Amino acid sequence: MTTQFSNNPQTSRQLYINGGWSAPSNAATLPVINPATEEIVAEIAQGTSADVDRAVAAARAAFAGWSTTSAQSRALVLGKIHELMLERKEVLAQTLSLEMGASINSARAMQVPLAAEHVRVARDLLSTYRFQTVQGGTAIEREPIGVCGLITPWNWPLYQITAKVAPAIAAGCTVVLKPSELSPLSALLFAQLVHDAGLPPGVFNLVNGSGHEVGAAMAAHPDIDMISITGSNRAGALVAQAAAHTVKRVTQELGGKSPNILLPDADFAKAVPLGVMSAFRNVGQSCSAPTRMIVPKDRLAQVEALAAATANAIIVGDPRSEDTVLGPIANEAQFNRVQTMIEAGLKEGAKLVCGGLGRVQGYEKGFYARPTVFSDVDSAMRIAQEEIFGPVLCIIPYETVDEAVAIANDTVYGLGAHVQSQNLDLARAVASRIRAGQVHVNHPAWDPMAPFGGYKRSGNGREYGVYGLEEYLETKAIIGFCGASESTPHT
Ligand code: NAD
Repeated sequence: MTTQFSNNPQTSRQLYINGGWSAPSNAATLPVINPATEEIVAEIAQGTSADVDRAVAAARAAFAGWSTTSAQSRALVLGKIHELMLERKEVLAQTLSLEMGASINSARAMQVPLAAEHVRVARDLLSTYRFQTVQGGTAIEREPIGVCGLITPWNWPLYQITAKVAPAIAAGCTVVLKPSELSPLSALLFAQLVHDAGLPPGVFNLVNGSGHEVGAAMAAHPDIDMISITGSNRAGALVAQAAAHTVKRVTQELGGKSPNILLPDADFAKAVPLGVMSAFRNVGQSCSAPTRMIVPKDRLAQVEALAAATANAIIVGDPRSEDTVLGPIANEAQFNRVQTMIEAGLKEGAKLVCGGLGRVQGYEKGFYARPTVFSDVDSAMRIAQEEIFGPVLCIIPYETVDEAVAIANDTVYGLGAHVQSQNLDLARAVASRIRAGQVHVNHPAWDPMAPFGGYKRSGNGREYGVYGLEEYLETKAIIGFCGASESTPHT
C-alpha cells in the first residue's frame, strides 16, 4: 500500500488555512526523507512569517465564534475527528512509518491508537468538566486562552499533535500548528481529517516549515496568546525567549533521561526485559524512555545477561515488514547523534554488553542503529547525563537504596521515572523521592488521563487529561456574582 504522498506530491506542498488548502507565499520546499531507504518521498511547503500571519489572522477571526460554542457542540466535532482517525487508521499508520520509520506494527498498535486516545479523552472531558464554579459569592470561570501556536516534534508525530490540538480546541481555543519539518506528512492527513470532521474554518490551521522561520515567527507573534512546544531543550529555550516580549503563556515538553530503579526485591526476570523494551520503544526516541537502569551492584551480572538476551532478540529492520520490532532511527542527524554517543560511552570506559557502533548488519542504506547496552556506567559519564534519543541503555550499579535515589535524581531532567519492586509500599516510598513529573511502578498500562510533563529542565506545564485541558484555559473571577456584599478596601 502506498500513501497518498507518493502518489500525489502536490498535496504535501500546501498549507491548511482558514478551512482550505492554499499555496504558501514562497515556492521553496523542504524534502521529506524516508529513513528506511534514505529516499525523498515528498516535498513540503517551506512556510514563511507571511504564512504565519495569514494563519494567525484566520485563527483570531475564528476565535470569537468558537470560544462561545457550547461544550457539547465542541464534543461533537471531537467525536467526529476521533471516528475519522479510527476509520483512516491504516493510511495514518503507513504514513507515520514512511515519514519517521516506525515499524508498521508499532505504528498500528501505538502511534495511531494512542494519538486517537487524546482526542477521545478531550471529547469525554467536555461532558464532565465544569467551566464555571462558584466559591462563596464569587464565580470562577475557566475561559479559552485564545489563539494557540502548537509546535511538535518528529518522534511521535501524530500523538504529539493530538495531545495539543484536542485539548486546545476542546477548551474553545483556535490553533496554528507547526509540525516537525522532518515528519510532517501525518500532520497533513490530520488537517484533511479535521476538515472532513466539519471543524469551522480558522479553528485549526497548519503551517509547514522550519523551526527557525515558522516556529520562531509563531513564538514572537503578537496575536498568539500561548505557545506549546514539544521538542529539544534548545528549541524550547529559544521559543521562550522569542515569546517573552509579548508575555504569552509558554508550555514546554522537552527532553528527558528517565531512571528505572530496580529495587533488590524486584522480579528481575520480568523487570529487566520489560525495562529494556521500554527503553527501546520507538527505537529509543521517546522523551520519557527509561534509559538509565539503576540496579543493585551484586546483581549486575544477572541484569547484564537478561538485558543482552532481550536486546539481541529484537528484530531491527525494514519497518514495512510485519516481523520488525524496531525500524530505523527517524533521520540522519539523529542517527549520527546516536553514533556519537555510543562512541562517547566506549571512550569513557563503560562496559559494552551488546550492540555498538555502525548500522545493523545487512543494511547499507537506512538509519538502522544497533540496540546497545552499556553496563557499569558511572552517573557522571556523558551517556548517563545526556539525552541520546536512540536504542542505547545505560545500566548503573548502586549499593544502597539511598544511593539509587540519588543517582535517579542526578540529572538536569525530570520527566519520567520507573520503580520496580514486589513491595508496593517500598515502591511508593521511592517514587515519592524522585524529582520527576511521572513515576511508573512496575510497568503499568499507559494512562491517558495521568498528567504528563517535566520537573527541572524537562519543561513547564502538563499535558493529557484534565491537566492538559487546563493549560489552554484562563481563570476569571467574577466577584459579586451572587449579589453585592459590603464593599471592602482593595489593592
Ligand atoms: P526540535 O527541538 O529540533 O524540534 C521540535 C520542534 O520545534 C520542531 O517542530 C522544530 O521545527 C521546532 N523548532 C526548532 N527550532 C525552533 C525555534 N528556534 N523556534 C521555534 N520552533 C523551533 O526537536 P526534535 O528533534 O524534533 O525532537 C526531539 C526532541 O524533543 C528530543 O530532545 C526529545 O526529548 C524532545 N521531546 C520531548 C517530549 C516531551 O513531551 N517532553 C516529547 C517528544 C520529544
